[in-house]
Amino acid sequence: MKTILITGGAGFIGSNFVKYILKQENYRVIVLDALTYAGNLDNLKEYISKEKLFVPLKHTRLETVSFNLFGDVKPVFNASENIERLNFKLKEYQHITLHHNDFDRVIEDALNKHKLVFVFGSIDDPNIVRNLVSISDMVVNFSAETHVDRSILDPDRFIKTDVYGTYVLLEAAKKSDRFKKFLHISTDEVYGVAKDHSFTEKDPINPRNPYSASKAAADRLVYAYNQTYGLPVNIVRPSNNFGPFQYPEKLIPVMIIRALKNEYLPVYGDGKQVRDWLFVKDTVRAIHLVLEKGRIGEVYNIAGGNERENIWIVEKILEKLGKPKNLIKFVKDRPGHDIRYSLNDTKIRTELGYTPEWDFETNLEETIEWYVNNESWWRKILNNDKEYQEFMKKWYD
Ligand code: NAD
Repeated sequence: MKTILITGGAGFIGSNFVKYILKQENYRVIVLDALTYAGNLDNLKEYISKEKLFVPLKHTRLETVSFNLFGDVKPVFNASENIERLNFKLKEYQHITLHHNDFDRVIEDALNKHKLVFVFGSIDDPNIVRNLVSISDMVVNFSAETHVDRSILDPDRFIKTDVYGTYVLLEAAKKSDRFKKFLHISTDEVYGVAKDHSFTEKDPINPRNPYSASKAAADRLVYAYNQTYGLPVNIVRPSNNFGPFQYPEKLIPVMIIRALKNEYLPVYGDGKQVRDWLFVKDTVRAIHLVLEKGRIGEVYNIAGGNERENIWIVEKILEKLGKPKNLIKFVKDRPGHDIRYSLNDTKIRTELGYTPEWDFETNLEETIEWYVNNESWWRKILNNDKEYQEFMKKWYD
């Protein structure tokens, strides 16, 4: 049995990965997630109960200060708001004191009883991270600030989480004796614009916005820990993901939801930017393959093989939902907008035997249906997430 620490496991790809990995027999899972606006306990609803959820109280982003057993101190990150919005009652959680000597033991005891334990906390908190990494054999790092538009408005959080947070995880892994693998989720966006060819892992990276630059910094830090300290690492660079549970700020869910509400569909520039689309269920299978079989120190691209212009996607969504094309509104382009991303995934196919299982158009249809059938999931986000409302207002109004 291996213990795997999955960071960012309450987000879109992370929660899909948690569900996938729990179906494998030989893993026990610790999820560490800060429940930012993008982290959602609803994504793991059927897997989490109060005995499995740990909320260390009163810590700052950078340092654990002190902890209070009965919750009379408000946790940071709006945790209580986030959690109550999800119909959990904070006082019902396992509030634990995080004294260095007993935190890892408490979590390990819980893991012996349940296959999954959820810890609320940030990857840039060295105390929490050190404790959790010390009882894990592997880390899969999904946690990140992930939205390009938000990184243009406010890069600060991207540096703190994507770069500094990854460094904190790496340092803890470097110090652990039992550590087997650090698998970092990077992105195709680190390569920058694809002009005349699809990028292989040997191509130079050339990120062009604060999100992709922070991801590139983390990607190279992970590599450096392998080259410098011999840490066993892998890096994967997936292309644009889509599927169930994607936060409604990314292209496909934004367009589906706005179309369902008969709101205009904002399309940047002329809509001719090309993205390669990868179904999230293929991504999690590929990540599992790399976790088990990836050669130490190697980077693997994960492509979808489905390059489409953004406008094609938007029109397809309108067609499937039976909505008129005049809902489309071309808006001012994103500054520094990368015109095309494109990946060559020969390496993961030939070395690890990966092939995508899912058909793009069928899965786009299924994803649309998922959002149609799960209105309560996204309505809750739209209605309760003030950050989301402010963001949409700033960006689209
Ligand atoms: P997401 O925004 O849906 O989820 C991010 C998760 O990380 C959330 O649960 C959030 O609460 C958590 N998180 C944020 N800051 C944290 C912190 N300081 N400590 C702990 N947890 C924190 O993201 P996603 O779309 O699922 O992407 C997952 C990973 O995959 C990211 O690293 C992203 O860069 C990468 N990626 C995503 C795509 C895509 O198309 N979605 C494509 C390629 C790579």
